[in-house]
Amino acid sequence: MRFRITKMAPLMNPKWNGQFSCFDLVAKTAAHARSVVRVRDIEIGGDDFVVMAGPCAVESEDQLLGTAEAVREAGARILRGGAYKPRSSPYAFQGLGVEGLKLLRKASQLTGLAIVTEVMSEEDVHLIAEYADIMQVGTRSMENYALLEALGQCRRPVLLKRGMTATLEELLRSAQVIAMAGNPDVILCERGISTFETATRNTLDIAAVPVLKTVSRLPVIVDPSHAAGVRSLVPILARAAAAVGADGLIVEVHPCPEKALSDGNQSLTFCEFRNLMIDLQPYLDLQHHDRLFRPQLLAAIGAD
Ligand code: PEP
Ligand code: MN
Repeated sequence: MRFRITKMAPLMNPKWNGQFSCFDLVAKTAAHARSVVRVRDIEIGGDDFVVMAGPCAVESEDQLLGTAEAVREAGARILRGGAYKPRSSPYAFQGLGVEGLKLLRKASQLTGLAIVTEVMSEEDVHLIAEYADIMQVGTRSMENYALLEALGQCRRPVLLKRGMTATLEELLRSAQVIAMAGNPDVILCERGISTFETATRNTLDIAAVPVLKTVSRLPVIVDPSHAAGVRSLVPILARAAAAVGADGLIVEVHPCPEKALSDGNQSLTFCEFRNLMIDLQPYLDLQHHDRLFRPQLLAAIGAD
């Protein structure tokens, strides 16, 4: 016995006092229900689930080109890789800089993948926009207003990661700053927040996806890698993201994670990434069908 139910809009906590009607350029309205961000021939926030994948940091030509080829074959559309790395420790690898940007361009030319890479400072915006299809704002920069304003003029879409201690309202406020400065093409990214929990690197706020998609017109993607901090949890968090209606993922992949110069613990091998992609499909399908309740749940609510 199976019953179809109609989909309901996710309900917000009635006590929540999030105020985003003032964020008029990013809020969902009757006139602007959703924005689709176009990158080359890719639509983010449209019907496709778009996966961005690649190493945490660009380390060498072999590392980047090998990873680009592997993630493309597995179905990724966009290559990620940091050339400028914001690291918690000043002693950690800081990235290859311009050399890394050149390698990203080469990988893009060889594979056809679009490029997303991080920009840390407003002074680097022009340089990075020459190489990147999408400008990534990292968690540590979400409230860097000089950077956000400079990105308003860069003529490239922006991937705005949620600050690790930022509320959703603060995330939307930063998106509004970019839009007010002239750039409406913002993609939001839930990448986990700092909580008292230590079993994972950050706590993936999975509810952020339906909440953001209810109040905002912007596409929302999930970064399961920085949320999990360990590779074994990345595929299941990716599936959760697909099931709750995310528009895509950004995932760290490395040819040899044990040797990675940054974030090796959370980076997937090529094979693990391919399996992640294959296993996503049924979870994406959930978004396209009405949900089916199990009979015992229906019995509990008195349906016949
Ligand atoms: C990254 O994408 O490698 C990164 C540093 O992410 P975050 O800013 O979310 O920590
Ligand atoms: Mn990383």
